[in-house]
Amino acid sequence: MTKKTADEALKDPKNWREATRLVHGGTLRSQFGETSEALFLTQGFVYDTAEAAEARFNGQDPGFVYSRYSNPTIAMFEERMCLLEGAEAARATASGMAAVTAALMGQLKAGDHLVSARALFGSCLYVIEELLPRFGIAATLVDGADLAQWEAAVRPETKVFFLETPTNPSLEIYDLKAIADIAHRHGARLVVDNVFASPVLQKPLQFGADCVVYSTTKHIDGQGRCLGGIILSSREFIDTYIHTYLRQTGPALSPFNAWVMLKSLETLPLRVNHQAASAARIADFLATHPNVKRLVYPGRADHPQAALARRQMKSGGTLVTFEVPGGKAGAFAVANALSIIKISNNLGDAKSIITHPATTTHQRLTPEGRAKMGISDGMLRLSVGLEDVEDLIADLSHALSALAQPGLAAE
Ligand SMILES: *Cc1c(COP(=O)(O)O)cnc(C)c1O
Repeated sequence: MTKKTADEALKDPKNWREATRLVHGGTLRSQFGETSEALFLTQGFVYDTAEAAEARFNGQDPGFVYSRYSNPTIAMFEERMCLLEGAEAARATASGMAAVTAALMGQLKAGDHLVSARALFGSCLYVIEELLPRFGIAATLVDGADLAQWEAAVRPETKVFFLETPTNPSLEIYDLKAIADIAHRHGARLVVDNVFASPVLQKPLQFGADCVVYSTTKHIDGQGRCLGGIILSSREFIDTYIHTYLRQTGPALSPFNAWVMLKSLETLPLRVNHQAASAARIADFLATHPNVKRLVYPGRADHPQAALARRQMKSGGTLVTFEVPGGKAGAFAVANALSIIKISNNLGDAKSIITHPATTTHQRLTPEGRAKMGISDGMLRLSVGLEDVEDLIADLSHALSALAQPGLAAE
């Protein structure tokens, strides 16, 4: 390589490795040459002349027009996310649910059909089961692990497949490549809600997914401050299904929140990899604890889909799910005895968080609905944070000892 072409190659973010992309990718530096990315807290933009305004509006000049459409800080966040995900284009939204709703509503119309895994974030289930049918869009819910059910659910009017993997809170793994293949064979597109794995540990586009959505509220902020979401895909997909829908309906991300998340991306791999390493340690600790009836962690060899998890995820992730004896009373006793680990419903945060799905995130479901998703009353979901792992293990060890010992464990 000549010196000139080597220089050129190093200037192209596509040639950078992931950590470098997350520090420098997408930066738009203003005339002041600031080191840290600027926060453009502005609704609109001014034009030197009426002709310049006309050119912006008719698209001859690609500059910014209005922050509901786009904004330099949001554009930096979108471009950095594209470089992370390996996507051609992205659009940020005000929340994860705004991203999911736009990704589905943007593609579907009356008469269309959607196939979705049943194990979904509660609000996603609302959109699919209650909102879309009001507009004449039917849905079939399937057991995502059963490929035959995906295949059998397809109708001539099926346009979209939708899933999360690992699932919440059971941490089941669905086969992205196999499900994408079924979708494509029938002319449908696969949308993946990739929140649980995070973009550091799993890249669904590489396994054939057509579109990836995030609640950036989770690992991407990672410090419990802002709501946000993003939709990533090919340029053609974004232009065809998402661009106009978002511009005209307006679930725009605040430039301030975009700035917080843009800066968060600089440390995302450090945080997620550290949290996942701690989660693996904690899973091993819980797996042998006499007061833990069942432990689910996709990074352990005893996970029912361990081989599939290894194929599509870089590690087991930052979440651990476990079951204690004594049902709801046992789970509440453990959660209430924790000191460092907080009781909350967020995940991917620097702070470790414990959730009792049956009475919080999944309380809207019937007991039968929860049973179908493998959610028992003694189940707890732990999102592992950035604390020292020895302190987290000490906290869990102390809380589990609050359960009356061998009697309950022998149940
Ligand atoms: C949190 C979450 C959402 C919704 O995101 P918000 O930012 O809260 O709107 C969607 N899907 C999954 C898997 C989530 O964990």
